[in-house]
Amino acid sequence: MIKRVVHLLEIPFVNTTHEQFVDELKRRLEQKEKTFVVTANPGILMKTKEDNEFQHVVKRADYVTPDGIGVVLLSKLKRRPLKERITGFDLTVDLLQYADDENLSVYLLGAKESVNKEAARQIQSTYPNLNIVGRHHGYIDIDDEKIHDEIYEQSPDIVFVALGAPKQELFIDRHIKNAQKGLFIGVGGSLDVHAKAVKRAPDIWIKLNLEWLYRMIKQPERIKRNIKVFSFMIKTLLKND
Ligand code: UDP
Repeated sequence: MIKRVVHLLEIPFVNTTHEQFVDELKRRLEQKEKTFVVTANPGILMKTKEDNEFQHVVKRADYVTPDGIGVVLLSKLKRRPLKERITGFDLTVDLLQYADDENLSVYLLGAKESVNKEAARQIQSTYPNLNIVGRHHGYIDIDDEKIHDEIYEQSPDIVFVALGAPKQELFIDRHIKNAQKGLFIGVGGSLDVHAKAVKRAPDIWIKLNLEWLYRMIKQPERIKRNIKVFSFMIKTLLKND
């Protein structure tokens, strides 16, 4: 069990490397321990401050990972340094590989119907030994009983929930109480990338910590949201806590 966490705005972030974190998740999957993972970028951190219910949900998760250079940078400037970024997309890749190695079952929830379907097709062809026991697009009501029932009945080992925040975390929080087992992880736009509908930033942009800039250039509709998140991060930085 990873004990080391760093608190930023009351949110406990796991302070470990991506590799060690994946090992921890594999151990929990082996033991069939129910697990809720939030991959929190600065936008999610901001939403925890704007919405009390959402903050409680994030605090109830088993793990919150720093998904975004903004969170890591904030931790460093606050002199509580986090080791590294642990992104939702990178976790999907390693978890899918593990599911393939161990013949695990997965459920894919989220994105548009065409994207969800194509993501399932791509994932099945890249990871032929994992078992996709169900999939559904993400334009749903998070209380939709039909989807909750389907996931309960299938009881998958891993459920990738790609509805964007806060919808994906609220969905998991509602579902997990009654689930028998399963690793539930909110992964934002990851299914779009698996479906090849959206390209992930080239490695050099990721290495230079500029993935956010690449996404903003490719998806200009994010600019307004990013300016809001950026000014929130500056204010947080200037506050003494
Ligand atoms: N999405 C969804 N249902 C919704 C709203 C969004 O399934 O009601 C999907 C959307 O199609 C996209 C993902 O959620 O695949 C959100 O991606 P984004 O990159 O915006 O995630 P965020 O940055 O908010 O985590």
